[in-house]
Amino acid sequence: MSRQEFDSFREAACLCGAGQITRHVESTDYPFGGANVSYTLDCPVCARDWRLDHGTLVNKQSEKEYTALSAELHALMAELVPLAAAMITSHFAALNLPSKKAELRALESLGLYNGTYAAYTKARREGEPIGKIVWPLRNEAWLVSVAGKDQRAGLEGALTQRAELEAAQSKAAAKIIRKRVLRG
Ligand SMILES: [Zn+2]
Repeated sequence: MSRQEFDSFREAACLCGAGQITRHVESTDYPFGGANVSYTLDCPVCARDWRLDHGTLVNKQSEKEYTALSAELHALMAELVPLAAAMITSHFAALNLPSKKAELRALESLGLYNGTYAAYTKARREGEPIGKIVWPLRNEAWLVSVAGKDQRAGLEGALTQRAELEAAQSKAAAKIIRKRVLRG
């Protein structure tokens, strides 16, 4: 059993000056254990509007838009990626290429796969559908071109929505107010 010690230090002042940023060090006497360091914002005033993130105070109000857009993008991708994967799987099932090597060449030339042949054949042997082995959104133009009539409009709409969300997300990211309070 190794011994654990917990120590807390005042690391820096908070923004309003009524409280502080506290450094917490958890160390053990195990020679290779090292020490776990964490920080907390200990000020009831500052904590209303700010949160501590890796040595930086982040204004909570200023990141709301980014957080909301990220959640929206995440939800969209959770539908888009499996849809694209299923389209690729059925496309290659219909192609019915003569060998795994031929599949791999076709996937590589589409830019959908850049792993090794060994990794590809292993995944296929284990029954992974092709759409799940590749990154299914690597070649959007091709994907749209092979989409069935009933899928194309939905796919294009989702891809446009993704591009718009990503653009809005990076704009929102630039609006997040951060104040560095710790060194390093
Ligand atoms: Zn404060």
